[in-house]
Amino acid sequence: MKLIILGAPGSGKGTQAKFIAKDYGIPQISTGDLLRNAIKDGSELGLKVKKVMNTGKLVPDDIVLLLLKERLNQRDCENGFILDGYPRNLTQAEDLEKITNILLVINIEVDHGLVIERITGRRTCKKCGAIFHVKYNPPKDDETCDKCNGSLYQRGDDTEETVKKRLLTYKNETIPLIKQYERQGILKTLKSDGTIDEMRLKVGTLLKATFSHKS
Ligand code: AMP
Repeated sequence: MKLIILGAPGSGKGTQAKFIAKDYGIPQISTGDLLRNAIKDGSELGLKVKKVMNTGKLVPDDIVLLLLKERLNQRDCENGFILDGYPRNLTQAEDLEKITNILLVINIEVDHGLVIERITGRRTCKKCGAIFHVKYNPPKDDETCDKCNGSLYQRGDDTEETVKKRLLTYKNETIPLIKQYERQGILKTLKSDGTIDEMRLKVGTLLKATFSHKS
């Protein structure tokens, strides 16, 4: 099962990707997480990546591809994976086609008016990557992860100013990619307008319908 999940910042794609990974026993591969890990390493590459991420723009394709290839070569990807946040433009889609074949692209559509509140209220666990929201999915303790007791933080690019730029990048670079997957007939779009659990159900129904007759 090789899938892509796409969506604007704040669409909830990361949250749903985690559910899919858990429900289907495949790894969630978030290029955003791979890049944030590179930043944590404190290398020169990490420094370069951090600067770009904080502007809301895309990190150069070659850097992301390198990290992605390394990750996809790991054993846990043998039976499939869910790509979260990759590809983000047409060049990346071409790069991806050369290394693997994707069966389904889930596109999570969200009203951009909702996104700012969703993102600026988001808190992420430093240790396990779990995602909370101060209003819609609050942790029991403001600063601690319910799942692993790690500390929660607000991502450096989750500020209002950067979110606006990320939305612009999404419109200019990622929307053409969505159109291309639509033409290829592998795109399914789901509206993200209910609760997290309602969305999980919608995604589950889609996956069941798609994979009941494919391997
Ligand atoms: P995300 O965690 O998916 O919201 O991504 C956060 C940021 O990481 C984006 O705004 C980009 O700067 C960078 N990023 C993540 N995935 C990619 C990608 N596939 N290509 C380029 N930049 C990316």
